[in-house]
Amino acid sequence: MEQYTKTLLSKGLLQSEDLYQYILETSVYPREPEPLKELRHATAGHPRARMATSPDAGQLMAMLLKLVNAKKAIEVGVYTGYSLLLTALTIPEDCKITAIDVNRETFEIGLPIIKKAGVADKIDFIESEALPALDQLLQNTENEGSFDFAFVDADKGNYWNYHERMMKLLKVGGVVVYDNTLWSGTVILSDELVPENLKQWKEPIIEFNKLVAADPRVQLSHASVGDGMAICTRLY
Ligand code: SAM
Ligand code: CA
Repeated sequence: MEQYTKTLLSKGLLQSEDLYQYILETSVYPREPEPLKELRHATAGHPRARMATSPDAGQLMAMLLKLVNAKKAIEVGVYTGYSLLLTALTIPEDCKITAIDVNRETFEIGLPIIKKAGVADKIDFIESEALPALDQLLQNTENEGSFDFAFVDADKGNYWNYHERMMKLLKVGGVVVYDNTLWSGTVILSDELVPENLKQWKEPIIEFNKLVAADPRVQLSHASVGDGMAICTRLY
């Protein structure tokens, strides 16, 4: 059994921890690329290691990237780079991922592993608040409707603002995944039951889930993988 079990178990939403472990041991860890394992292990000791994408959620992302044959991707919220490295490893040679994070320091924890994996050239890292960075990208009309895939995993209070930008940046038929949309299951809990550290984004996530469910521009699947992932395809 993997030594990082404890951290990972607390990320899953399945009622049975043994069942979550079964998925990881049977289908996920044996197929997880070595550089991703290395990055996951390098992140495990970091004080905010819980923020990293769980490998089962990553496996679903990799499948979506392949299904849409993603050549141009964008990520909002990099942290140490698990989902970023996963994307860079999955998209073909000569393809690009634009990655935005206010914090370059945590990206640099994963960077040596990304470089060793030979995919650093696929990454354009932008150290910035995400909203102005997205607006800057939209200033260039060539970016409109040009992205095949987007992963949004930064400040949850801005998810709807990010969504509005993604509806312009994505191709019709492109996919955007919003992460943590079940917020450790707190979306159905009354406030007094929500742990202090989760209170801030509970309501914004609930509001985002409502808005995106009512958005005719997307096809939606709210998957209960990881901490919940709202998977959207741009319809028009
Ligand atoms: N996707 C990452 C992974 O797989 O490890 C995890 C991302 S972590 C949950 C959220 C990241 O969003 C943090 O690195 C944080 O610095 C960044 N972030 C938070 N608010 C932001 C903002 N307004 N603009 C840009 N980045 C932001
Ligand atoms: Ca996340």
